[in-house]
Amino acid sequence: MSLVVATLSYHKIGSPPRDGWQTWNYTGSEEFAAQLNWFHQRGWQFLSAADVLSAMRAPSALPEQGVLITFDDAYDSLFENALPVLEKFSAPAVVFVPTQFVGSANLFDHGIEPLERIADWGTLAKLQKAGFSVESHGATHRGFSSLTPFEIEMELNASREAIRENLGVDSRLFAYPYGDSGADSGLVDLALQKAGYEAAFLYGGGIFKPSQNPAPFSLPRLAMGPDVDLDALLFQKNAL
Ligand SMILES: [Zn+2]
Repeated sequence: MSLVVATLSYHKIGSPPRDGWQTWNYTGSEEFAAQLNWFHQRGWQFLSAADVLSAMRAPSALPEQGVLITFDDAYDSLFENALPVLEKFSAPAVVFVPTQFVGSANLFDHGIEPLERIADWGTLAKLQKAGFSVESHGATHRGFSSLTPFEIEMELNASREAIRENLGVDSRLFAYPYGDSGADSGLVDLALQKAGYEAAFLYGGGIFKPSQNPAPFSLPRLAMGPDVDLDALLFQKNAL
């Protein structure tokens, strides 16, 4: 049997801010812990970004079932609400940061999601030290369908440079804002490669098997919210 990777895609752990409202993108800390426990109890191993990249190169080097935990938009509340749960499971994680909003808020979600603080570079450095891999979610958090090829290159390069400058690491993973990878996958793949990325994630979809040579710049993720039925979801996906 070959390695199955389930990539979980979360936004916010915990409750909305006092002046905010509940949306599906908030997973309560207890639900989050229960979801990680579901994997833990069934023998899935928590993978790091580096584990997944090496599995893409040599699938046999890893356990049969691995789970990669990712968070989009880099909310400040991750430090308080997600980190303690991750530490309980000794689980590494990935945070995808829209670099122009570091230390600011999710202004791109205006009217759709409550405004929340996005972590500043100091907090991202602390998360990095605690086992998070800080990766790119673009600079301005725009879907690629609305961008010119030049703007796509700018998003890929500017965000990667900001991460390198502030955290001293090269981002190897990318998550498309809104899961929107644009209309021309050939062009985007080439731009990602040129900028130095090794893999890119969509939002939604199922699991993937590194041994089946999945397209590295269109990897699926499981959209996670408080009510996700992992039994139903992963039984179906594994049965595929
Ligand atoms: Zn996002």
